[in-house]
Amino acid sequence: MTAATDLEFAGLTALVTGGGAGIGAATIEALRTRGAATAALDLDPSGAPAGAVQIQVDVTDSAAVQAAVDRAAAELGGIDIVINNAGIGAQGQVEANDDAEWARVLDVNVVSVARVTTAALPHLRRSQAAAVVNTASIASMLGLPERVLYSASKGAVQAMTLAMAADWVAEGIRVNAVVPGTANTPWIGRLLEKAEDPAAERAALNARQPHGRLVEPEEVAEAHCYLASPRNRSTTGVLLPIDGGMTSLRTRS
Ligand code: NAD
Repeated sequence: MTAATDLEFAGLTALVTGGGAGIGAATIEALRTRGAATAALDLDPSGAPAGAVQIQVDVTDSAAVQAAVDRAAAELGGIDIVINNAGIGAQGQVEANDDAEWARVLDVNVVSVARVTTAALPHLRRSQAAAVVNTASIASMLGLPERVLYSASKGAVQAMTLAMAADWVAEGIRVNAVVPGTANTPWIGRLLEKAEDPAAERAALNARQPHGRLVEPEEVAEAHCYLASPRNRSTTGVLLPIDGGMTSLRTRS
């Protein structure tokens, strides 16, 4: 049972892009449990937790994003929190992705952060608890093989997070990012399914993590909540890894 004192988001509203699955859906669940009214903006929002407003939208379509954000604000009664979480992968060395693929992935992973945040900005400016939380990735902090485009996109998300935080710190709009390690979401499920032996591949993936397992989406959701919480009004410009120590630890000396 949730204690009343845990309802730290009571009276607050949040929109979550990519809220129809994986980390985004877990974040909606965590925000709702703590009292927020939520909207899931997704290509397919039908997988969002019950009670969230479901809004079908492609975050690369500016006009559709504006309409979706307006609808979320109308149905929720404003927007205090924006979780920019929709994202897609890209594999390969630098020559693997052509101009069209670069444009597509950067549009979904990077430009959408600017697009959604800009559409929500008038609402954030009216909020007393305004917070933006972006979902980055450890891919941009490690030299991962065959992830040039994806790593570039998530490095841009980190840089934007810091720059937006600087722009808005004086007016009280906080901007932070979670930096997940490999997380146990449908995305990773789809990648594992392509392997010759998915069970063996999953075991190998687990073994590559310092803490011996994938990060659970609920653990990333906890970080989204921490960074969005009105209890943490001094937390801005933070890039918070949730990665079992992948970016900070060496398990052998
Ligand atoms: P997922 O594929 O399981 O879910 C992503 C959701 O985003 C889906 O519901 C999808 O429909 C939606 N989406 C994708 N493109 C969209 C678009 N153009 N418009 C609207 N919605 C769109 O992914 P996930 O693993 O939950 O990843 C969420 C975020 O976390 C992404 O930004 C991803 O880069 C990041 N991330 C994931 C991992 C991981 O290992 N899973 C690690 C680090 C960072």
